[in-house]
Amino acid sequence: MSCKVVLAQGISASYREELKSTIKTRNICPKLVGFLANEDPAAAKYAEWTAKTCAETGVEFELRKCSRNDLEDKIIEANQDAGVNGIMVYYPVFGDRQDQYLQNVVDVSKDVEGLHHKYVYNMYHNIRFLDEAKTKKCIIPCTPLGLVKVMEYVGVYNGILPHGNRLHGRVVTIINRSEIVGRPLAALLANDGAKVYSVDINGIQEFHRGVGLQLKKHEVSETSLTVEEVLPLSDVVITGVPSPSYKVPSHLIRDGAVCINFSTFKNFDGEEIKKKAAIYVPAVGKVTVAMLERNLVRLYDYQAQDRAS
Ligand code: NAD
Repeated sequence: MSCKVVLAQGISASYREELKSTIKTRNICPKLVGFLANEDPAAAKYAEWTAKTCAETGVEFELRKCSRNDLEDKIIEANQDAGVNGIMVYYPVFGDRQDQYLQNVVDVSKDVEGLHHKYVYNMYHNIRFLDEAKTKKCIIPCTPLGLVKVMEYVGVYNGILPHGNRLHGRVVTIINRSEIVGRPLAALLANDGAKVYSVDINGIQEFHRGVGLQLKKHEVSETSLTVEEVLPLSDVVITGVPSPSYKVPSHLIRDGAVCINFSTFKNFDGEEIKKKAAIYVPAVGKVTVAMLERNLVRLYDYQAQDRAS
């Protein structure tokens, strides 16, 4: 077995070091507030990692627990508090469209998760800057961004190609099409040049920029291909199925593929996948937290820029 297992701790290390040194040398102390309004153990774990990474890097993190019915007022309070630079909410809260509403209650200037409609719209439309002078980069949703960084780290992105085209020729299957992770990730990777098969319980869609990347932003088409057909075609398989019983069929994975799991549950059979994959990333949570903090420092700077102008 020559599979290399790559851990999120190692992938996130350089980002954590960079954050630590930026915060120390500039002598700043950005403040992040996290709202926990559910009883989900995965959310509590995520909050724990956030607190730990923030303590390590010099970010002030405050976890505010409240009932889900008070959450909207609490977010508004934090929006208005100049001492708070970033806000995040541990989802799901209501588990329906009300969560989408809450994502838009968070002020766009403090949205470290990049879930506000403005950021999501810009991401789908491949708009990379907030201003015409191109001084303010758009905030990208942190889990999809974390997965992009994982793919850069393990060498799926080809650095010889220009930015925006570095996945040209790569075929990626993503098993999850949620609005929080799977669909934005499919769009980001397709915007960077990949052909993406986006799988969910209702079927498969293809995200791509056409032959020779002639399209400026990705388009989506329905495909009648099945999981059994797309997995053997894929250079990279990314999975996020929130179920302990789900397992990606290892025998369908292409020899030498890159396999990445972002679900809280182990979607790959650890031993079987190592017989086929060249690179296996069993979890990515720590990279997501590093991206959250990176987004926070970016928003801190934009807020200072806005105050100065
Ligand atoms: P979700 O419930 O909103 O979406 C699940 C998606 O998986 C849906 O698109 C659904 O159709 C698809 N799916 C479910 N069963 C499937 C199957 N058998 N075959 C194909 N597709 C199937 O969940 P979510 O918010 O996207 O989170 C998914 C998982 O990722 C959870 O375990 C969550 O805790 C984890 N997560 C991890 C991070 C991180 O940074 N590591 C961040 C966010 C979410």
